[in-house]
Amino acid sequence: MARSSTFSRRDFLGGAAAFGALGLAGCASLSAGGSRPGGLPDRGEFVIRNAYVMTMERATGDLPNADVHVRGGQIVAVGAQLAAPGALELDGRGMIVLPGLVETHWHMWNTLLRSMAGDRKERGYFPTARTLGEAYTPNDTYQGVRLSAAEAIHSGITTVHDWSHNIRGPEYADADLRALRESGIRARFSYGAAQGQSTDAPINTADIGRLQRNWKDTSNDGLLTLGLAWRGVSTSATGTISAAAWRKDLDAARGMGIPISVHAANARSRAGAIDVFAKEKVLGKDLQVIHAIWVSPAEIRALADSGTAVSLSPYTELRIGFGLPKTGEFLAAGIPVGLSVDTTTLSGNADMFAIMKAIQNIENVRHEDEFRLPARRVLELGTIEGARSLGLDGRIGSLKPGKRADLIMVNTRDVNLGVFSDPAHMLVEAAQPQNVDTVVVDGRILKRRGRLTAVDVEQVVGEASAALTALRKRANWW
Ligand SMILES: [Zn+2]
Repeated sequence: MARSSTFSRRDFLGGAAAFGALGLAGCASLSAGGSRPGGLPDRGEFVIRNAYVMTMERATGDLPNADVHVRGGQIVAVGAQLAAPGALELDGRGMIVLPGLVETHWHMWNTLLRSMAGDRKERGYFPTARTLGEAYTPNDTYQGVRLSAAEAIHSGITTVHDWSHNIRGPEYADADLRALRESGIRARFSYGAAQGQSTDAPINTADIGRLQRNWKDTSNDGLLTLGLAWRGVSTSATGTISAAAWRKDLDAARGMGIPISVHAANARSRAGAIDVFAKEKVLGKDLQVIHAIWVSPAEIRALADSGTAVSLSPYTELRIGFGLPKTGEFLAAGIPVGLSVDTTTLSGNADMFAIMKAIQNIENVRHEDEFRLPARRVLELGTIEGARSLGLDGRIGSLKPGKRADLIMVNTRDVNLGVFSDPAHMLVEAAQPQNVDTVVVDGRILKRRGRLTAVDVEQVVGEASAALTALRKRANWW
């Protein structure tokens, strides 16, 4: 696995030394069994003791004083007073343990442009992403995705859907994937067009084929999967896509058997898109539709009948003025629903707790009903339902023996979470990323006691800032 020279063993050990200074046991406590030179912590064996465990399995429910035993990246057991001889013990007292949060659509490359959607039309999100996107180097992509992945882990997000729609050549896809691999996060990588790409030009599906043929070497032991970031029949940025191009992209993805994701019906002016998809036989279990705000009851039925999933990103939908997500209608129809960041150029940050809170509040106000969307249901959307919407619910999304160990520990003793009342309400209404004490992805401890274990945040932010300064200079964008 190729590694950046900027992410060295020295940096990792530097981070570990800082933990030592904080009074932790050092490297072993971070990795539960050491780390590979220059890389991620190993998947060791550990047991979290005496935590409030929310399994997000309806049959099991919550276990108020329980343990979670993890070995080799897998959940071995969940229950009270588990026997786990030799396992590293993590104190779970005062902690809520739950599955890692599942994010379902995020243009990670443009986190380099965080909060840069301006206040005039020519500086709005789409022209900003396009103009600066066209001036991107592969290193800019790497820096944006690496910063996003670090923020995700900080925020308790263990799975992302990296919607990569500025692939200007194979080296951009490689840079994006390298950042994902180095971070240790679980991700679907969806390969898209470039910003400013001609609406007549298809996506480079031959390059998707190249990646698919070598996927074993790319997938980071199965943490990464491959998909198509499809433009659909039109996009907000470019307008109508030629039929020859969109059909070629779609047919290629279906030929390769990879999942497809598309923005549709996000704005009032783009209503009717789902009807077009239904007529063109685009809908299906392999399709995720993003936003789907301007949809009719018949279109919702078409989505449900075809098994199409939906991704909702309330903060970008609100910020850009698209409209209010139809969460309740989708859930009532049985459509798999996931929640998403979309882009921090608009949303500012990747706070999934805030996203869950917004989803609940918007749904309740739409119906003028305090009880419309319960907190626990929202928490399901952020975990097991999100996983289901990505086709990953067999592997992650709940705490169950045999599943991969993606989980977080939330410290309920922090000032904004005390006192312990209703844990689902606490997580949706009160919790914030800084309350995430520990993050485990595929059995690797990537955040512990509030600090990222495999990322030097100062270095990541510093290099991203330098890349942005150079990018703005190249694009003459101030
Ligand atoms: Zn988007």
